[in-house]
Amino acid sequence: MNQHFINGRYVAGQTGETIAKLAPATGEEFARIACGNAADIDAAVKAAHAAFEGAWGKLTAAERGRLISKLGLRLQDHFEELARLEARDTGKPMAQARADIDATARYFEFYGGAADKVHGHVIPFLNGYSVSVVHEPHGVTGHILPWNYPAQMFGRSLTASLAMGNAVVLKPAEDACATAFRLAELASEVGFPDGAINIVAGRGHEAGAALSSHPGIAFMSFTGSPEVGKMVQHACADHLIPCTLELGGKSPQIVFDDADFDAAVPIVCKAIVQNTGQTCSAGSRVLVQKSVYDAFVGAVAQQFSKLRAGTPEMDLDCGPVINAKQRGRVQSFIDQAREQGIPVLAEGQIAQGVPNGGFFVTPTLFGQVPRGNRLEQEEVFGPVLSAFSFEDEEDAIKLANSTDYGLVAAVWTKDGGRQQRVSRRVRAGQVFINGYGAGGGIELPFGGTGKSGHGREKGFIALEEFAVTKTIVHKHG
Ligand code: NAP
Ligand code: MG
Repeated sequence: MNQHFINGRYVAGQTGETIAKLAPATGEEFARIACGNAADIDAAVKAAHAAFEGAWGKLTAAERGRLISKLGLRLQDHFEELARLEARDTGKPMAQARADIDATARYFEFYGGAADKVHGHVIPFLNGYSVSVVHEPHGVTGHILPWNYPAQMFGRSLTASLAMGNAVVLKPAEDACATAFRLAELASEVGFPDGAINIVAGRGHEAGAALSSHPGIAFMSFTGSPEVGKMVQHACADHLIPCTLELGGKSPQIVFDDADFDAAVPIVCKAIVQNTGQTCSAGSRVLVQKSVYDAFVGAVAQQFSKLRAGTPEMDLDCGPVINAKQRGRVQSFIDQAREQGIPVLAEGQIAQGVPNGGFFVTPTLFGQVPRGNRLEQEEVFGPVLSAFSFEDEEDAIKLANSTDYGLVAAVWTKDGGRQQRVSRRVRAGQVFINGYGAGGGIELPFGGTGKSGHGREKGFIALEEFAVTKTIVHKHG
C-alpha cells in the first residue's frame, strides 16, 4: 500500500517517504502509505492525459459503461474483502462497511448504465441552420476525498466522471485509502485502459494542493471541510477551472407536534450515530415544537442511551472516530458544552473490551442547547446530537436556517401543506419529509448551499457537472 497507482500499475513515490496508518479501533499501526508530492501528481496527470488522448478516450460511451458495470460485478466477487478493508481502515462496524460496499456497487451499476444515456439535444433556430448541443468530457478531472466513506466516495465522484469519458486523478485521504487502491487494481483487472484511473496517496497540503493547482486538471471534485474547500476553490480560480465542493453540514430534523413519534425517534437516533456521526449529512440538530419537546426528546433520550460504540467485529451502533485528533476535537465540543452547563440528556456507552488505544468517544445527547451556541453553529463530525425547541412554523424555519450550512433537512409532520411550505423554505440541497436518508440514494442529486458547498453529485445531474456543454451551429450550404 506504500505506493501510488499510476498508469495501471503500482509505482514507488518520488521521495520514498511514507506515512503510518493506524487502525482507529486499536490505535496501532497496520500499514504505511506513500507520501506523494508534486512530482508524483505530475506523473499521474500526465498518465491521465495520455489515456484521455489514447485508449480510454477512444472508447464509446457504451464501452465505458460496460467497463464500469463490470467493475461493479467484480466488486461483488470481492465484497467481503472490501468490507473488511474498509472497516479496518476507518474503524466502522462491519454492518456499516458492508452497507458502504453495497452502495459503492450501486454507484457502479448506476453510472455504468448511465454512460450511454447522456444525450444532447437539437434546437430549432433560423431557417437553413441545424443546431445541436452535445456534452463532452472535461479531459482530466481531479478528485480529493475525505476518510469517512472512502469506497462510496470513489463510486460517487470517480465513476460519474469516468462515465462521461474523463480520465481521473485521485488524492484520497491519508487516513483511509485502502479500498480506493484496491478498486483501482480491480478496474485494471476488468480492462480499464492504463491511466484512466490514477491514485496518488499523501498529505493534503502537499499532494492535494499540487493536484488542485495542476494546470493539466480541467475540473476539480472536492469533498471535505469548508476550510480546505476554500483553498481548493482558490487554486481552481488561479487557473480558471470549475469545481464542485461537497462540504459539511449541520442538518436539522424538524419535528412538529403532530409528528409520528414511533417513526421519527429511531431515525433521529440513527441519523446522528451512523458512521459515528462522521457523515456530512448527519442529522446533528433535532428541532422540536415546544408543546411536545419533553415527550419527544425524552423518547429520543431513551433510545440514545442504548447506543453502543465498539470495534468493527463487535458490530454495534457505531465505531471509534477516525484518529486521535478527531477524538480530541469531538471531546472538546462535549467538554465545553458540559462546562457551559448545557444538560446532557443521554449518553451511549463505549462497549466493554474495546482496545485501550482505540479512538472512542461516548455518544452524547445535549438539550436544551441555547440558540447561537457552538453546538448549533459548528459541525462536530462525531456522535453528538443537539436538541432545540421552537414555537411555531415560522420559528422552526428561522431555527433550521440559522447556520451557514445548508445540506440536508427533514420535516416530520402529518400536515400536507406544512410539509410543502417548510420543505420549500428550508435552506438545504435535500429535504426529506417523514424520513431521513443520511448519505443514501445514489439516484438523488446531492449537494449543498453556503458553507455546505456548491455543485451536485449523485444522480444524472452529476454527469452534467463532469461535462462541458458545446453548441454546434451548422449553416446549411
Ligand atoms: P479535510 O481536512 O478537508 O480533508 C479532505 C481532503 O482534503 C483530504 O484528502 C485532505 O488530505 C485534503 N486536503 C487537506 N488540505 C488540503 C489542501 N491544502 N489542498 C488540497 N487538499 C487538501 O476534511 P477531513 O478532515 O478529511 O473530513 C472532515 C470534513 O469533511 C467535515 O467537515 C465533513 O463534513 C466534510 N465531509 C463532507 C462530505 C460531503 O459529502 N459533503 C463528505 C465527507 C466529509 P489529508 O487529510 O489526507 O491530509
Ligand atoms: Mg484530514
